[in-house]
Amino acid sequence: MEAIAYERATTVDEAVKAAREPGVAYIGGGTNLLDLMKGGVARPLKLVDITHLRENGLDTVQALPSGGIRIGALMRNSDTADHALVRERYPLLTQALVAGASAQLRNMATVGGNLMQRTRCPYFYDTAFASCNKRAPGSGCAALDGYQRMHAILGASEQCIAVNPSDMSVALAALDATVQITGPDGPRQISIGEFHRLPGDRPDLDTLLQPGELITAVDLPPSRLANHTYYLKIRDRASYAFALVSVAVALQLEGDTVVQAHIALGGVAHKPWRASIAEGLLTGRSLSDTALHEAAAAQLRIAQPRPGNRFKVMLAERAIVRAVNIAAGREAVGVTGAPA
Ligand code: SF4
Repeated sequence: MEAIAYERATTVDEAVKAAREPGVAYIGGGTNLLDLMKGGVARPLKLVDITHLRENGLDTVQALPSGGIRIGALMRNSDTADHALVRERYPLLTQALVAGASAQLRNMATVGGNLMQRTRCPYFYDTAFASCNKRAPGSGCAALDGYQRMHAILGASEQCIAVNPSDMSVALAALDATVQITGPDGPRQISIGEFHRLPGDRPDLDTLLQPGELITAVDLPPSRLANHTYYLKIRDRASYAFALVSVAVALQLEGDTVVQAHIALGGVAHKPWRASIAEGLLTGRSLSDTALHEAAAAQLRIAQPRPGNRFKVMLAERAIVRAVNIAAGREAVGVTGAPA
């Protein structure tokens, strides 16, 4: 049994001060952190409880003068999904949140915690496996010669091929969100595209957050993308499973011409992967089967699958085509599946 110190903060300043020493973790909903602690994967020396912070709109959604919105980091996933401003202006975010986890977990999990959740690579969670560079830097990567079905086909390294498990973050990537942060050196912001890292030679680091920094909110810019959105999640079970591949799509259309295409992929990389190649090929074109298949194929041409997850390349290609078609109203929503 290891002793863990506990401190309940009532202000953001208090929380940041309490987290100045090494080995401190913030705890909000705890839906991932507590699992990691029970399994001996995370071993914080002290928990700073941030669930009682009620300042600066941390548990609200606010309209911004720009026409965008600010979502407080302590907003529960279920409340965020159901908020009128989110449903009206950013239905893609609602769709992605509802696709994640179970209702019970969504009732506990917070927006800030969702951004910080760690990979579900089985070797990371099972301490019986000695090799995991993310859990024990320098120990190797058991997945390189092991189970790879859930692993990355884009942006991986020889140090780690894990994927980011968040559905919400994929929608935020498509919506050009900005993460608001505060810490020992004051407030700053990071675009969602830069917030999560690729593994490189430091797979133990998931994000650009520095020690002691706390997420306070997520901002979404004004958007003309609310009318044509879809979050397609392909998984091994119909519910309560992580994505093999997911696609977040938000389109601005004039007739059948694509004015703007925002597309992000989940389940394929260490971070939500903005499909900028497909976006570029679709923008300014009429949506047609040919245009869509060309764009999706070009996007996946850069994939580097492993023997155990080659199927993901074609799956992702088809998922892009399907998600864009549904978002544009060219195809009805139906049942999706994945190869065994
Ligand atoms: Fe660990 Fe990453 Fe390898 Fe999984 S893929 S075993 S998380 S180093």
